[in-house]
Amino acid sequence: MIYFRLNVLRRISLLLLLIAALISGCEQAVVAPPYQGPPPAAYSQPPAGPPQPAQVVEQSVGYLGNPRTVYHEIGPMETIWRISRMYGVTTESIYSANRLTPSDHLLIGQKLIIPNARMIRHVINLYRNPQWKYIILHHTATGKGNARTINVSHGARGFWNGLGYHFLIDNGTLGKGDGQIEMSPRWIRQQCGAHCKAGGMNEKAIGIALVGNFNYEKPTPNQMQSLAFLLSVLRNYYSIPPAHTLGHREVPGAKTECPGKLFPMSQLRQTALR
Ligand SMILES: [Zn+2]
Repeated sequence: MIYFRLNVLRRISLLLLLIAALISGCEQAVVAPPYQGPPPAAYSQPPAGPPQPAQVVEQSVGYLGNPRTVYHEIGPMETIWRISRMYGVTTESIYSANRLTPSDHLLIGQKLIIPNARMIRHVINLYRNPQWKYIILHHTATGKGNARTINVSHGARGFWNGLGYHFLIDNGTLGKGDGQIEMSPRWIRQQCGAHCKAGGMNEKAIGIALVGNFNYEKPTPNQMQSLAFLLSVLRNYYSIPPAHTLGHREVPGAKTECPGKLFPMSQLRQTALR
């Protein structure tokens, strides 16, 4: 009986000790003063960043005549350097017009003033990566879109890491240029795609999507011109033969109409894919 009481007492005291430890742990977490000193060394260096491109290819799409002020909405993983190359201005002029410093954090969707913009250029990063042996073409099946909005919608559909393609060719909606090429974070990080499971293409194919629903409309001439440019750059750099550039529905096992009934695949084969 005495042994039983001692045992119960020991259990109660252990329980009290456990509760005291838990409470003191909670209190410590709540009352810990915010860190006010200089950033600890561990945080002063950014985490390992994306790979460095081996080459950056640029092509002028158009000149804006007299230099003018334009507005640019920052897309996923876009940098001030890329935006400066795109409009033919210096990074310093963008920092100063927007009262930013190089250490400021940029937000997706943040609108930048670009003073004295002189041109619009495609800016394409190329990485040494033997993984890329195919190119698969898609439509977004939406009338409107840009990398920011499709990044959100693909994330909501459960695609790992958001925007499933590597490149997006805009159609002039939601503040983007008609034929503007956006690089996806997936391309900048050199990650597998989330655009074509059939044939294991996510692991070996670069995914390019054009904004639009080509079951109901054709891609714009500017989109097709940008696609021809992008295909020539990628096919040349990664030595991808014409037979390895396919519309999504042409991949054996893919059950889809993508990139849409009106997508001019045969015309592309006679021109950009010869
Ligand atoms: Zn597709």
